[in-house]
Amino acid sequence: MNGHGKSEAAAPASGVVSGLHAFRLASRGARPGGTVVEAGGVRIGAGQAVVMAGPCSVESREQILQAARAVKAAGADMLRGGAYKPRTSPYDFQGLGEQALAWLADAKRATGLPVVTEVVSPEDVDLVGGYADLLQVGARNMQNYALLKKLAAAPWPVLLKRGPSATIQEWLLAAEYLLTGGNPNVVLCERGIRTFEIALRNTLDLAGVAFVKELTHLPVIVDPSHGTGRRSLVAPASRAALVIGADGLLIEVHPSPEEALSDGAQSLDFAGFSALMAGLRPTTLAASA
Ligand code: PEP
Ligand code: MN
Repeated sequence: MNGHGKSEAAAPASGVVSGLHAFRLASRGARPGGTVVEAGGVRIGAGQAVVMAGPCSVESREQILQAARAVKAAGADMLRGGAYKPRTSPYDFQGLGEQALAWLADAKRATGLPVVTEVVSPEDVDLVGGYADLLQVGARNMQNYALLKKLAAAPWPVLLKRGPSATIQEWLLAAEYLLTGGNPNVVLCERGIRTFEIALRNTLDLAGVAFVKELTHLPVIVDPSHGTGRRSLVAPASRAALVIGADGLLIEVHPSPEEALSDGAQSLDFAGFSALMAGLRPTTLAASA
């Protein structure tokens, strides 16, 4: 008992379900068969899990090229790398901006991997869109309505991360801003939420992923790196995410995690990422059996 005087069984009937009309474009009923979002030739939500991998931050041309080659060799479908970093502390590494975008483009040319990267402000949308195949809205910006409205009118697909303290309803309403503003190409990303539990960086809401898949037709992927904050948990959380129905994964991989300028503790090295990918194959088969 939690002392709130509500049974657990009553929980699903609360806000989300009674407010279904509130996200009518995102709701499963609007497209019962589900939506496939195409980003740089990769189809997300088409039944095959999509893996996006690369460093938290782009740190140098060599670093992103090495990472791109390694994740491609291990079987990743897309390259991630942050050029604009929303950091909790203003004293932390803030990203290399347009220079990093240019290096991501080099890495894309070298490997053929489409690029997913974050955009943090409406003024940067056109610039980032010129380099990226999928534009990430970071967790801290999920309710940045100026950014959402700008992306709603933009031609690029959007990866919308769940805010660290956002309810499922708030997350789907943020997606609704994109859809109602004219952008149908939205992928949701669960990246862990803030709860009373502080042993891990975040609490990865995998049941929420399964529930969101019931509530919406949009593809939903999982970020087990931010979702756990610990390298050792990234592979098991990835397997669990696919078994529960996620359409893909977003995973941080760094050539030398101990030296990473951001999120080293949750980043895999190349060997770790290859092992993770090898371990996913039976999971994907099992999940689709
Ligand atoms: C990231 O992807 O590196 C990132 C900053 O993610 P989030 O917005 O989920 O914290
Ligand atoms: Mn990160």
